Amino acid sequence: MKVTQRLKTGAKVFSFEFYPPRTAEDTAKLFNTAVELKALSPDFVSVTNSSSGVAPYRTVALCAVLKAQFGLEVVAHLTCLAHTRGEIAEICDGLKKMDIASVLALRGDPHNVDSGARRRDYDHAAQLIADLKKAGGFAVGGACYPEKHPEAATLEADIARLKEKVDAGAEYLITQLFFDNAFYFRFLEKTAAAGISVPILPGLMPITGYKQMQNFTKLMQVSVPAALKAGIERWEGDKDGMFKFSVEYASAQALELLKGGAPGLHLYTLNRSRAAMAILKNVKTTV
Ligand code: FAD
Repeated sequence: MKVTQRLKTGAKVFSFEFYPPRTAEDTAKLFNTAVELKALSPDFVSVTNSSSGVAPYRTVALCAVLKAQFGLEVVAHLTCLAHTRGEIAEICDGLKKMDIASVLALRGDPHNVDSGARRRDYDHAAQLIADLKKAGGFAVGGACYPEKHPEAATLEADIARLKEKVDAGAEYLITQLFFDNAFYFRFLEKTAAAGISVPILPGLMPITGYKQMQNFTKLMQVSVPAALKAGIERWEGDKDGMFKFSVEYASAQALELLKGGAPGLHLYTLNRSRAAMAILKNVKTTV
């Protein structure tokens, strides 16, 4: 069932995010991860896309394998900064031929796109969403940012742009990761007030080390609550202690979100299953 159909049933939707591996060893690891996570019956898995020339085809290929061989419902991420309209049309053709009908439509990060690779057909995700809807046959989602997108001047300005994505055809949204649920609940109120009524799936990621926390928070400009920072500092250097703390923190976050009305959870896995499995098991035995 497409993610959009599943969301309409009102049942909580659980999903995992993967990225295309680069080596044979990482590919084997990802396939093991997929097998393990499939046992938890996720509603879909999504596959990221880096913004360079042939990258979308890696995403399409991995989606096709996860769907055909592992029987998983897939959502292909598609970025637009490095593509012309013609290239996007070709990628969409490939997706259709592989029977992949769900796309998360994104702009991509300008700093990840070489100046020579940047095309000028698309400046924002809303334009890609409009093209995908025009092409027809795709269930389309978009990204959103409870603590605002780093380039936006204010959260309100960002939400006004988000409304344009929904008006262009985004049928659901997945959030940037966040560690403080207050941002998500405030975001739900503000987006509803702005007339956005599509489901907003919270994106969660268990943090497994101090460096990782610093990298992600710097890159994505998300806040780290004092309790999380203290825990990460407390368990740095103790792998098992860190894992336990991290899973407990994310599970508590997940439960509060679901009880507070979130339509489900999107877990950023970094292609590893252990933490994602533990969190989802904790959640599913409680909800
Ligand atoms: P947009 O919706 O275009 O917004 C980007 C910025 O432009 C915002 O500040 C917005 O307020 C502003 N804006 C929008 N429209 C206008 C307008 N008309 N005029 C002026 N300003 C405007 N990146 C990847 O490269 N690959 C991935 O697979 C990937 N997956 C992601 C999945 C999720 C769930 C999330 C949250 C992000 C993902 N990203 C991915 C990162 C994403 O590409 C970056 O965050 C990017 O900077 C913004 O993408 P967007 O689609 O939200 O852009």
